[in-house]
Amino acid sequence: METKYKYNTKVPAVKRLMREAHELQESTEDYSAHPLEDNLFEWHFTVRGAPATEFENGVYHGRIILPNEYPMKPPNIILLTPNGRFEVNKKICLSISGYHPETWQPSWSIRTALLALIAFMPTNGTGTIGSLDYTPDERKALARRSQNWKCKQCGQIKSLLGSNVAEISTTESQLIKSVVFKAEDAVSTNAKEQAKTSESSPSPVSTHSSSAGNISPGQSPTVNEDLATSHPDTTSSSFHISERTSTVLITIIVTAISFLLYRRIFLL
Ligand SMILES: [Zn+2]
Repeated sequence: METKYKYNTKVPAVKRLMREAHELQESTEDYSAHPLEDNLFEWHFTVRGAPATEFENGVYHGRIILPNEYPMKPPNIILLTPNGRFEVNKKICLSISGYHPETWQPSWSIRTALLALIAFMPTNGTGTIGSLDYTPDERKALARRSQNWKCKQCGQIKSLLGSNVAEISTTESQLIKSVVFKAEDAVSTNAKEQAKTSESSPSPVSTHSSSAGNISPGQSPTVNEDLATSHPDTTSSSFHISERTSTVLITIIVTAISFLLYRRIFLL
């Protein structure tokens, strides 16, 4: 396996991913994962739906995109098989629930991520970005159909799982239960874009980027933009600042003009 890639093995991410690829060489009955032939930073994985849930008998395939900073930064997961829990072809990131949602520990691995994904799928995803609220029956139907699902690169995914039992320690099982998956926050991405646009045009919209995280997914940031223009009183302090600045400028100009007029009249 090591000879397949032309990567600098001194790079921590490369070293680490090669080790993980070696450890995950043998598929288990619950998960399997392997890097692509030509890219060590993209993997394809297969997981089995958790027993006694609507995902039981389901087999789900997807991509794992690893950042260059891995394992300092977490992997991103993209599900490809329709499952009724996550939107397909959408990047979902994992984080740990609790006080520090961005936490990811370098000691966790692709295996941790996959086990966490299996455990997380049956949790309620109401309202979370990238989540689908399909009924249990719809999910069961998708689980049955997933048995015949094929990946263009890997073939029939059902055959990608093995018969080895994945051993999970108590500590690991506690950890994977605390992992949370969610799609990239589209709202904050919009907010970033907004911030970018407002850099070029002097509009008060940039002031919303900090508060945009609180906007619910259904609520478009453009609505706020409209509010900002029609009801300046309801907008944030920065808008008042720019409003005040223009008032001050106008006052200065008016004063200057009156002063000039005054001087002219009295000098004549
Ligand atoms: Zn594949």
